[in-house]
Amino acid sequence: MKLVQSILTKNDCYKSGRKITVKGLMLHSVGCSQPNASVFVKNWNRSGLEACVHGFIDGNTGTVYQTLPWNHRGWHAGGAANNTHIGVEMCEPACIKYT
Ligand SMILES: [Zn+2]
Repeated sequence: MKLVQSILTKNDCYKSGRKITVKGLMLHSVGCSQPNASVFVKNWNRSGLEACVHGFIDGNTGTVYQTLPWNHRGWHAGGAANNTHIGVEMCEPACIKYT
């Protein structure tokens, strides 16, 4: 597995600096056809966003871009899951059908 450090240091979530004790992993689909993880990494490295996750997995290469330290509190799930879970998004090509 290739892991690329791409911490979103300009994202407000990163700046808020809260830490968590990790209890699990949430693996999500980004829900749109954009296989290129670096597109998300570029778009999310700014202030004014109300979302931030720990990583993106590239839909073509499988490369993992780590976008928050693993023990940083993400802005990802609704409810309390942000307090305990790492959040990672899978990027997907256009052939995926969403139902
Ligand atoms: Zn998600």
